Amino acid sequence: MTEHYDVVIVGTGAGGGTIANVLANAGKRILLLERGDFLPRELANWDPEQVFVDGRYVSPDTWYDADGRGFQPQVHYFVGGATKMYGAALYRLRPADFGGIRHADGLSPAWPVGYDDFEPWYTKAEWLYQVHGAHGEDPTEGHWSRPYPWPAVSHEPRIQQIADAMRDAGYHPFAAPCGILLDEARRPASACIRCATCDGYPCLVHAKSDAETIAVRPVLGLPNVTLLVNAEVQRLETDPAGSSVTGVVVSRNGQAETYSGDIVVLSAGAANSAAILLRSASDRHPGGLANGSDQVGRNYMFHNSNAVVALGKEPNDTVFQKTLGLNDFYFAGDGRPWPLGNIQMVGKSNAAAMRGEEPALTRLAPQLSLEEVARHAVDFWLTTEDLPRPGNRVTVDGEGRIHLAYQAGNADEAAALYGELRTIMDHIGLAAHHLLDKNFYLHMSIPVAGVAHQAGTCRFGADPASSVLDVHCKAHELDNLYVVDTSFFPSIGAVNPALTVMANAIRVGEHLVERMA
Ligand SMILES: Cc1cc2nc3c(=O)[nH]c(=O)nc-3n(C[C@H](O)[C@H](O)[C@H](O)COP(=O)(O)OP(=O)(O)OC[C@H]3O[C@@H](n4cnc5c(N)ncnc54)[C@H](O)[C@@H]3O)c2cc1C
Repeated sequence: MTEHYDVVIVGTGAGGGTIANVLANAGKRILLLERGDFLPRELANWDPEQVFVDGRYVSPDTWYDADGRGFQPQVHYFVGGATKMYGAALYRLRPADFGGIRHADGLSPAWPVGYDDFEPWYTKAEWLYQVHGAHGEDPTEGHWSRPYPWPAVSHEPRIQQIADAMRDAGYHPFAAPCGILLDEARRPASACIRCATCDGYPCLVHAKSDAETIAVRPVLGLPNVTLLVNAEVQRLETDPAGSSVTGVVVSRNGQAETYSGDIVVLSAGAANSAAILLRSASDRHPGGLANGSDQVGRNYMFHNSNAVVALGKEPNDTVFQKTLGLNDFYFAGDGRPWPLGNIQMVGKSNAAAMRGEEPALTRLAPQLSLEEVARHAVDFWLTTEDLPRPGNRVTVDGEGRIHLAYQAGNADEAAALYGELRTIMDHIGLAAHHLLDKNFYLHMSIPVAGVAHQAGTCRFGADPASSVLDVHCKAHELDNLYVVDTSFFPSIGAVNPALTVMANAIRVGEHLVERMA
């Protein structure tokens, strides 16, 4: 079966869903191919045990590490992709992130565009995704051309106390940007949110600004939009010259189907998009489609993140905890030789999700039950930048299975950031603290499996010898193939990646509308 569209889009997450919204509203005839289905709306969406302990929404998939051991990656194959589970902390990269930055373990390379080029798209993404925030509080942020569409989500009393104490101690806490469909004039966040600030949970009432709710659903009724779910793209075919994609080969409900479009946009996530290109090797592209540079699959990045549970004497009855950020250590300076990264709050911990860590946590405070530990916990998320390294890479084997070789970087910076947080906690009276492996939150058996912030496998750049995509995210070697998921990142910065993917998808979408006109 062959059907032809203006644009075929593979994947409906932050990149694919957002570009679909732009192209659909411009009247283009688009086909969305999504490997997963709609995420079911059910009470289990808000059940920490089902979500964190049982991994109910982690899609069954097996990848292989560098030693050939199989593991289940933390992937979410649904309409909306990983954004169905994300924390909706929608940060812009800092202006300096677009330039080269020296780190303890090497160079974070410059982007082929600057912050000023990107700023209009950030603004559009913030308005599309209904971001709550406050400009002017974070000394590291860049300029903005328009305020946030919504005021910052208010801190609940315990978080306000912590913010005040940080400020009194000379730090610069700021209101974290949150993508949430909430009008506090009518209802406070604590009353509306049952699921500890969206972080890691799907939202049963569709109040989280995810790609399904914001970008895909609103265009599904349009006559120019077709969405096929349970449609897994296997590979791309080209014309005999190898210069255009002519077929998108799909396995749908066990049947092989082929679709085509004037333009094909790949947005299956950094690992899956690289795998699709590598599986599409042909005589014209023997190392994989668009891979003359041998960069497809390389430079895989993932933030060096740590979750920290701090215990204070006072209970922390916060529901919506993810309202505070701190970038005082984002860059080198003040005696620090290296940039350390971002500190933010993470979804409020609870006893059910903490069960796996019970022995360590109850050792910290033996007089408290696990329920009381959870009640007194204040939860921080530390993010240090990872660097693109050629050896950190996605490959596929003869059967098309994904292999991921990965070694974390910048461990010294991550440790120093934790040290800074300990100092802050001493200042503000959170004396007992404990560094938990991030697997506690992501509930994974080995670190390589925590692929939530995967990026970098098809980086964009001006030089076809060292990049896969050009400045418009078009493959250098093909005239109609674009990639708009996190693959395009040449470096990842130390803030959450989704807003940058969304902004870029709007940028590329508008470019395509112009191109097709
Ligand atoms: C628990 C969790 C919390 C997070 N919190 C935050 C946060 O607070 N802030 C933030 O900025 N980021 C956060 N992230 C990361 C963020 O969600 C991702 O960076 C973002 O969604 C990446 O967008 P993408 O388009 O690259 O991929 P995705 O959004 O994952 O979209 C990829 C899509 O492609 C589909 N797909 C895959 N393979 C195929 C195939 N072969 N054929 C067809 N379809 C395919 C997938 O099903 C999916 O729909 C979080 C992620 C997780 C998992």
